[in-house]
Amino acid sequence: MPDEKQAKSIDPATLEMLAKASEENISTVFDRADKLKACPIGADGSCCKNCAMGPCRVPPPKGKEETPKEKAARVGVCGATAETISARNFCRMIAAGSASHSDHGRRVVEAFKLMAEGKTKDFEIKDEQKLLKLALDMGVPIGERSNMEIALDIAKICEAEFGRQEGELYFIKNAPLKRQEIWRKLGVVPRGIDREVVELMHRTHTGVDQDYRNLMLQGVRAALADGWGGSMIATEIQDVMFGTPTPTLSEINLGVLKEDMVNVIIHGHEPALAEMLAVESENPEMVAYARSKGAAGINLAGMCCTANEILMRHGVPIAGNYLQQELAIITGAVDAMVVDVQCIMQGLLEVSRCFHTRLINTDNRAKITGAEYMPFDELHPKDSARAIIKAAIDNFPNRRDNVRIPHIKQSLIAGFSHETINYLLGGLFRASYRPLNDNIINGRIRGLAGVVGCNNARTTHDSAHVTMIKELLKNDVLVLSTGCAAMAAAKAGLMVPESAAKFCGPGLAEVCETVGIPPVLHLGSCVDNSRILIAATAVVKDGGLGDDISDLPAAGAAPEWMSEKAIAIGQYFVASGVYTVFGTTFPTMGSKEFTNHLFKDMEEMYGGKWDFQPDPVRAAQLMIAHIDKKRKALGIDKARERVLYDMAMRRELEG
Ligand code: SF4
Ligand code: SF4
Repeated sequence: MPDEKQAKSIDPATLEMLAKASEENISTVFDRADKLKACPIGADGSCCKNCAMGPCRVPPPKGKEETPKEKAARVGVCGATAETISARNFCRMIAAGSASHSDHGRRVVEAFKLMAEGKTKDFEIKDEQKLLKLALDMGVPIGERSNMEIALDIAKICEAEFGRQEGELYFIKNAPLKRQEIWRKLGVVPRGIDREVVELMHRTHTGVDQDYRNLMLQGVRAALADGWGGSMIATEIQDVMFGTPTPTLSEINLGVLKEDMVNVIIHGHEPALAEMLAVESENPEMVAYARSKGAAGINLAGMCCTANEILMRHGVPIAGNYLQQELAIITGAVDAMVVDVQCIMQGLLEVSRCFHTRLINTDNRAKITGAEYMPFDELHPKDSARAIIKAAIDNFPNRRDNVRIPHIKQSLIAGFSHETINYLLGGLFRASYRPLNDNIINGRIRGLAGVVGCNNARTTHDSAHVTMIKELLKNDVLVLSTGCAAMAAAKAGLMVPESAAKFCGPGLAEVCETVGIPPVLHLGSCVDNSRILIAATAVVKDGGLGDDISDLPAAGAAPEWMSEKAIAIGQYFVASGVYTVFGTTFPTMGSKEFTNHLFKDMEEMYGGKWDFQPDPVRAAQLMIAHIDKKRKALGIDKARERVLYDMAMRRELEG
């Protein structure tokens, strides 16, 4: 293995496919990142292009402290200061990220409504308990009504959450009471999801909000509309319709592709079509059709967050995370790459042209010029899935002789929803977070960390995720993970129970071994970061660890982030009271004042704050220091002395 710092990835399957790409002269995201240097002014958030008098670039002077005069002169044509420009750019990232998650949630609600109205028969209610719980939370009458009647009311309420003009989003009530009070006092409780995103876009338009503190209040409101609104709606309704995840054994990495089978990769974010593909890929008629074309069967695999969704509910294996999407096609074994929305690289088309792979768009919001379009028909999802699988099977005989699949894959267990954690820790008859809280209080578990987010071609693929997570585990920090970060951890073998003994400190290892869980819990896709909020709230509600999320010995991180969604997620974590550290780059470095607002002022306002540290070990240590600070504040900094009882002591106790 080359020096990790210079290597493009720590994942051997990725390196093997990069070598193949270079032998075959195929350009990938890794090559383009080398050739195309990032613009340093834009990377620091110091470039405004919000009107036609710009773009205006206002970078700080390099290598020296800025004088007050220089600072005063550092403004755009309209006079916008570096702080305003930086805050506007940051807020626009939040707006785009929140819009993306929430539009995902909206589509899920639309499908749910079609199901409840009986307009599509292909979907059903898989988790009745959760449906009834949502009904109770939302004040929907249950009585003798049918599940579909209840579902329709819930669908209408959720739909209205997007366009709500006043009041508070429903799921805000899921947060600890103290947290709700903080938000109310600061005036950042989201009214309607769309409204907050629109208002944020308005306020970042040229000549509108010119006070970064005021602007960020709306930035927070839009981010909360994502975390406790659009994303939470997506998670909850998906659970009702597709089933709440439970621990599921599967496999990950490019080695899950099969040379003798029709390989279909489903890539993107929304699970509705993927659900149907999972069902239809096992349909005996489709399997027989695949056999008629010389294949041994149909092999469905996932990529990015669609992968997480179908992994958790069907055990469908994952072919890889964000930076592996082109590499999957470079195996030469992918008969169809089926894409919906978000994180789909346009570079896929050129790569697929070098092979026989059919690149199939399925969503009218996300087309790729030159790719095939096979729309997902929400009224007839099964038919759409069948047509796509048939297209893949028809393409199987067109494979060329340049097939090479790396024989590298790893087992993982995924599917740790809040409900599962509750059940696993407490047991069926006494589901609770008590054992988790007790183990945090007694110091076996030092704290909790949410390590989430993307891959970024500007840093060694998967390296920061895995290094950070290992450092946390070594220090007895239990890790909750989602998105591409979860996939990195899984590929490194951190999502099997056996890894506890190998990578964890003695306290965490003992807890994981007793309960039989891996030390890194896979909670799902990016929208499922809402599960982390719910889990954190459950810990608060169980007692003994303060009365707000900001009191918990917990921290968040996205060491390899790249998407605007990550900024929205980071901001709702911070506003929910979590210390959150990002790696790779931070998009406000051009303005010290605004960065201080995020890194310092926010702690006073929300109890959580942003931080930036590209070195993953140092970043993990910052998280651990924060966890220790919280333990101290709770008075649990001295772990209780562990006493090993001998027989005489036991008898004494019993007597
Ligand atoms: S809004 Fe102001 S700073 Fe931005 S591009 Fe226009 S003139 Fe320049
Ligand atoms: S973690 Fe980032 S790269 Fe991965 S699927 Fe989510 S948004 Fe995309």
